[in-house]
Amino acid sequence: MTTELGPTRCKLALRPTPLELARRASAELGIELWIKRDDLTGSTLSGNKIRKLEVLLADAERLGADVVLTCGGAQSNHARATAIAARQLGMDAVLFLRGAATAHLSGNLLLDRLVGAEIRAITPEEYRQRDALMAEAAATLKASGRRPYVIPEGGSNALGSYGYYAAAQELRAQTEERGFAPDWLITAVGSGGTFAGLAAAVARREIGGRLLGFAVCDDRATFRARAESILAEMGSRFDWSIEGLPASCDIEDGYVGRGYGLNRPDELETLRWIASTEGLILDPVYTGKALHGLVAEVRRGRIAAGSRVVFWHTGGIFGLFRGDEAEQVAGAPG
Ligand SMILES: *Cc1c(COP(=O)(O)O)cnc(C)c1O
Repeated sequence: MTTELGPTRCKLALRPTPLELARRASAELGIELWIKRDDLTGSTLSGNKIRKLEVLLADAERLGADVVLTCGGAQSNHARATAIAARQLGMDAVLFLRGAATAHLSGNLLLDRLVGAEIRAITPEEYRQRDALMAEAAATLKASGRRPYVIPEGGSNALGSYGYYAAAQELRAQTEERGFAPDWLITAVGSGGTFAGLAAAVARREIGGRLLGFAVCDDRATFRARAESILAEMGSRFDWSIEGLPASCDIEDGYVGRGYGLNRPDELETLRWIASTEGLILDPVYTGKALHGLVAEVRRGRIAAGSRVVFWHTGGIFGLFRGDEAEQVAGAPG
């Protein structure tokens, strides 16, 4: 265990978030299922991105930034969280949103508009050049006298991931208080920063158990490489010696399904199952897929009966309110 001072964080999230036992789901699955409620980091400012933004925006403030630039899909939770948090700190936000030109004005996109973020709609082809596009826009802003700060996709770099390193420490205090050590830590993986931050905590023995990340897009090799590179960046930034991704940390890519932001009926069934047994609302893009994967891995026996499992509820509720898919998500009336 280490006690060195990490990077400065601003206070945006309601911390610590609750750790709750899902009793009925646990009984049905034959495991002990704990939910780490990072969906409760705030209401409109909810989800995992806030923990990353606490570190990233503290860095932006330190550098005197007055405008933040970031990117994502039209319904990006990260872009919405950045837009709202920037306003809370008195900054402007410029969002490069893939497909926003034709997107339904609902969910996260509606919130982006409400807080007056500048939305630059880009195509999937342009999105591949997102880092160059943002750097170019930042240079233009700078030339006009502004002080821009660029946040990469998902806030997933060394600073952003530090938010999840600290979250693992928060979880450890809670599990110790309840007298158990988790066998498994489960999270959805979209840009890799949450997984990398938790993996750093495992590598530095801040928390035990095996970490399994369920990819919601891309594949295992891509995310393992991304985690390795964030871990290396954290190592040099924070002067840590980390020997790469620990053997107890892995990515499962068997539940990506139809691809990012798309669902199969059985995934939505799992989402409705946990909603109706626990009153726990997941999102279709990330947490619903991750829980679907977790349930399947329990049934397959990879996650053994009786295991103590902590599932990170990373938020994403506005993904349920995209407006154009409500019937599909809700299913037949009960
Ligand atoms: C972004 C996001 C994730 C994935 O986190 P990454 O750090 O990007 O991998 C998981 N759940 C929700 C709800 C998210 O918005």
